[in-house]
Order: sequence, then C-alpha cells, then structure tokens
Amino acid sequence: SKHSGKNQFSFYQQGLEDSLNRTAKIRHTLHTALRENDFFLVYQPQVKSSTGEICGVEALLRLPAEKYHGLNPQEFIPLAEEAGLIEEIGLRVFKNACIQQQKWIRSGIHLKCSINVSAKQFQNKNLATEFINILEEKQIDPSTITLEITENAVFDNHQKAQTTLQQLSNYGFTIAIDDFGTGYASLSCLHKIPVDIIKIDRSFIHDCANNEENASIVPAIIMMSKGLKLKVIAEGVEIQEQWDFLKKLDCEELQGYLFSKPVKAQDIPILLENWSKN
Ligand code: C2E
Ligand code: CA
Ligand code: CA
Ligand code: CA
Repeated sequence: SKHSGKNQFSFYQQGLEDSLNRTAKIRHTLHTALRENDFFLVYQPQVKSSTGEICGVEALLRLPAEKYHGLNPQEFIPLAEEAGLIEEIGLRVFKNACIQQQKWIRSGIHLKCSINVSAKQFQNKNLATEFINILEEKQIDPSTITLEITENAVFDNHQKAQTTLQQLSNYGFTIAIDDFGTGYASLSCLHKIPVDIIKIDRSFIHDCANNEENASIVPAIIMMSKGLKLKVIAEGVEIQEQWDFLKKLDCEELQGYLFSKPVKAQDIPILLENWSKN
C-alpha cells in the first residue's frame, strides 16, 4: 500500500545522506532477522514454453514486509554479502528449500527446485560438503535441485570456486548461470565450467519482441546455448508477445509474472491443479 511504501521510505531512506548509518541499520536488521528466524522462502514457477506447464520453481528469499518495512532482497542480499552474513543465510536458504522439496516429493509433487547461491558462498571451501550432507540427510535426488549462480561466482574467484562447482556438478546437482549476459562470462568461457542451464537476464527479455537490440541478442544467446547443448530459461516474461517470441525461438523454459509471481509454498499445489484443469 501507499502507506507502507512511505514507511519504508522513512525507515531505510531518510538517512541516505548518511549511508553508513543506513548500512549499519540494515546490518543490525539482518542479524535480528537471523536470530529471530524471520527469513522465509517464496517460490516462483518455471514453465515449459511449449505448453505453459509448470515444471520447476525458484526459491526466493523474503522478510516479513511489516516488521521489516518492505526491505527486499535486491537491497538486503548485497548488504548480507558485505556484512559476511550471506554464508549463514545462504545455508539456511538451501536447507529450507530442501526441506520443502522433500515435502513436495513425499506428496507426489515432482518439480525441479532452483536455489540461488551467492558468489560469496563459494569462498567457503566446505560448501560442496555442506550441501551434499543436507541432500543425503533429506534423501533428495540432486538432479532435482538446480543451483543458480552468477557468472562472477566462478570467473572472479580462485581455483577453489571452480573446484567446488565441479564437486557439486559431479554429485549430480544441475548448474544454472543466472542473469546471463550481465556479467563477464562470454559463451566461449562456458565450456570451462560444468554448466547445464543458461538463464537469460530479464533486461534482455524486456521489450525483446520490439526493441531492435534485444530482438537480436536473445536469439543469439539461445542459438549459441543450443550449440553448447545447454538448456535456456528466460526470466522476466511479463507479456504474451514475449512468450510467443521465445516459443518461436525454442527457448525451453520461461519464468515471469505472465505465469505467476513468487508464491508461498502452500500455493504451489493450487497453481498445479489450476493448470491441469485448463
Ligand atoms: P534473481 O535471482 O534474478 O531472481 C529473479 C527476480 O526477478 C526475483 O526478484 C523475482 O521476483 C523477479 N521477477 C520474476 N519474474 C519477474 C517479472 O516478470 N518481472 C519483473 N520485473 N521481475 C520478475 P526478487 O525475489 O526480488 O529477488 C531479487 C534478487 O535477489 C534475485 O534475483 C537474486 O539475485 C537475489 N535473491 C533472492 N533470493 C535469494 C537467495 O535466497 N539467495 C541469494 N544469494 N540471492 C537471492
Ligand atoms: Ca536466480
Ligand atoms: Ca536471474
Ligand atoms: Ca536477474
């Protein structure tokens, strides 16, 4: 609402002239959120572009809007990274998404679950072991879990990050490059790392059916990905025109408000049921 928008403004933006103070405030807030276990996940469907059928979900982190004045992940994830809190937050995200995936599988819902992993988490040399232990504990098939990493997670970091990624891939996780096209990686680098999926960044999908540049960049990314035998997912699909455009290009999967916003876990079965009725 307009009112809470104003609250958010006054709480986190008023001291913009004092951005250090603002950062400290949010850091304190994130400590509180961890301590009080306030983080929760929502899930956005990923659909087959040929039919619109839901085939997966992406777990996205949230804080209760009222208590945290509408603080969103675009703001708090970078600050959590700076504050050295992303390791702890990221491990909780992974664990909770796996717990949810186990619940879904037990109730007969078989979707791939994508989990975001920050580049900073790759500085932890035990990351692969920690993730694998959780999967063993929950007895989840790793191929049903996709790890979404950004290009810089593996190209910025040391050898260590590439070793970790290789371990995760060898174990059977699906690896997706998130926000593809916004970082440094070129498609020519991709053969050096174990990647399965390219997620085309929302900024290229925006207006892709009309804007001349995007209308040529998107087909180029899809064509080259196919040459490298990688699956392609387009994010930020908001209108039918974009779906038509991407379907024609044989982009396998889509994600965006046209299909669904991120929803609570308990709403996923409802979305699946509604789709099967149509
Ligand atoms: P992302 O990984 O690229 O996630 C997609 C973002 O686009 C989500 O924003 C999603 O709500 C939004 N989105 C989906 N469809 C549409 C659409 O059709 N139009 C528009 N305009 N937006 C759409 P969200 O949830 O606010 O997350 C923002 C970013 O925060 C994520 O971008 C990701 O980089 C980061 N993030 C969120 N959750 C986590 C997490 O658990 N761990 C880490 N490391 N990062 C996370
Ligand atoms: Ca993502
Ligand atoms: Ca993305
Ligand atoms: Ca993005």
